[in-house]
Amino acid sequence: MPHLTRRAAFGALAAPFVIPAAARAATIGGPGEAAQAPGFARFTLGEMKVTVVSDGNLLTPASMLGANAPREEVNAFLEARFLDTETNYAHTNHVVIETGGATVLVDVGSGARFQPSAGRLLANLEAAGIDPAAITHVALTHAHPDHVWGMMDDFGDEPVFPAESYAIGAAEFDWWMKPGRVDEMPDGMKPFVVGAVNALEPMAERLTMVADGEEIAPGVRMIASPGHTFGHMCVVAESGGESLLVLGDAINHAHVSFERPDWAFGFDADPAQAVETRRRLLDMAATERMAVSAYHLPFPGLGHVARDGGAYRFVPALMRWNG
Ligand SMILES: [Zn+2]
Repeated sequence: MPHLTRRAAFGALAAPFVIPAAARAATIGGPGEAAQAPGFARFTLGEMKVTVVSDGNLLTPASMLGANAPREEVNAFLEARFLDTETNYAHTNHVVIETGGATVLVDVGSGARFQPSAGRLLANLEAAGIDPAAITHVALTHAHPDHVWGMMDDFGDEPVFPAESYAIGAAEFDWWMKPGRVDEMPDGMKPFVVGAVNALEPMAERLTMVADGEEIAPGVRMIASPGHTFGHMCVVAESGGESLLVLGDAINHAHVSFERPDWAFGFDADPAQAVETRRRLLDMAATERMAVSAYHLPFPGLGHVARDGGAYRFVPALMRWNG
């Protein structure tokens, strides 16, 4: 087995690792390779134009996957799917929805404040031909580092996106902004609170607190999906009889979340509630044949949900090169 250094949750895995060739699963890119081409992917949803735009990737401990299950069982599950048992390579897929004169961006990414492998949202928006100034609405799924730390510019006094509307779940805002919250949290989570406050507090006047099911732009609404965080919300876009469910981090892994929805994710604030939400969302997407997008799935993280016994399977969307 490859020997990798285990770090604390969300610590940056700075050192390049050496993985014996025989143990390596097939991957695209690698040490010494230039950045790969696809940083955005575009498709239509009824009358809407939707673009998935990457903020880069994150490296998190694989021990966060199946945190409530026996380690040997989780490792066997990962190995059977050619996945690393030490480090989870997570993508970060933002969704931009152009609808009825509005352009909605889901989450604002890490900026330069989190892991160095993330923070590519602006570069990839440019590659996709999307001017940050053209974004009229921002929908925030939740206030974790990789979703909101990119909110403010380098000086911390102006938002990167001069959008007219910012939407967040009222429960999410209230939870992070509660006075004294940082003191209640274990040391490892304190930076999460400080970072969330730094992103949300200067925006307090501009944030719209949304309720479950509220429409934020034509054909785009937010739905409550608590568990990963207490006020986590997903985004639903509907046009011309087609629908897309933007899952945020309610689903966090292309295999674990679908095939073992009852396995806890180590970063879920309320694991039991997260399981309930995960099953409800997967059931809805499978029943209504909705397209789904999830933030941490392999780029572009777009596909469908198929039922598989008592669990589910992620069915990636087909990438078409020539229209
Ligand atoms: Zn995340």
